Amino acid sequence: MQVVSSIQEMRSAAQSLRREGKRIGLVPTMGFLHEGHLSLVDLLADRCDFIVLTIFVNPTQFGIGEDLDDYPRNLEGDLELCGQRRVDFVFAPTDSEMYPSGYSTFVEEEEAGKGLCGVSRPTHFRGVTTVCAKLFNVCLPDFLALGRKDAQQAVVLEKMIRDLNFPIEVLVGPIIREADGLAMSSRNSYLEPRQREHAALLYQSLLAGKRVVEEKEVRNVERVKAEVMGVLNESALIRVNYVEIVDRETMRPERDVEMGRSAILVAGWLDEVRLIDNIRL
Ligand code: AMP
Repeated sequence: MQVVSSIQEMRSAAQSLRREGKRIGLVPTMGFLHEGHLSLVDLLADRCDFIVLTIFVNPTQFGIGEDLDDYPRNLEGDLELCGQRRVDFVFAPTDSEMYPSGYSTFVEEEEAGKGLCGVSRPTHFRGVTTVCAKLFNVCLPDFLALGRKDAQQAVVLEKMIRDLNFPIEVLVGPIIREADGLAMSSRNSYLEPRQREHAALLYQSLLAGKRVVEEKEVRNVERVKAEVMGVLNESALIRVNYVEIVDRETMRPERDVEMGRSAILVAGWLDEVRLIDNIRL
């Protein structure tokens, strides 16, 4: 496994692989790796000859007052985990390598990223699309692996790839969860034991929503949302940011639940820690 921090070195490695006809897979991450990230490496394993995992805490996707400075980092531990999986390259650039002084170009998807997380984090997806466009130009991937944990992000990136004609096939992997159902996230490391207990209600609330849809055949969006809210409101620690039922291909709000098309998305804060989760219906 090679660890590369310079854009030039990463790109020339990718260019020679492409010249040899090798298929490159990309897993973009912000590091502090867990099984959710590593499952994306496994997802690429049969289709790709080389897998590049990137580790970069991308400053442009954090808003003012968000957790950029506190975001957990552990490059050494991350490299050890990558060494246990089929990662061929780790690309871990510095901030100034990615955004040298005078940097002024951004890529923005203007529809799927506007609602849901885009409401309370209005510059977040612009940072995500910008850094991913840069990573595509540096790593030259044939395949991109994304996690469904960040369902809106996956839709925004798929749209950008289509709209800007990047020759990249996207694979979206399932959400990897802890034993109590909490979706794995680098941000879970912020949670105090009491908060950690309450955090499991996020997934419980989604299961309750799915249950009324499946067992009671409820299709009314407001009734399903009320069921989800009912579980979240059991916790005095959780402040709900949103509960929405959307078309999972477009992220547009649904009028009625459509089996096989809809998903429930939820975001909430436990004190300062913002967590998201979702479930398909
Ligand atoms: P992050 O490091 O949080 O930016 O995540 C990098 C990639 O890993 C994104 O595509 C995420 O959707 C994916 N990911 C993060 N957590 C999980 C999880 N629990 N299950 C599946 N994919 C995940």
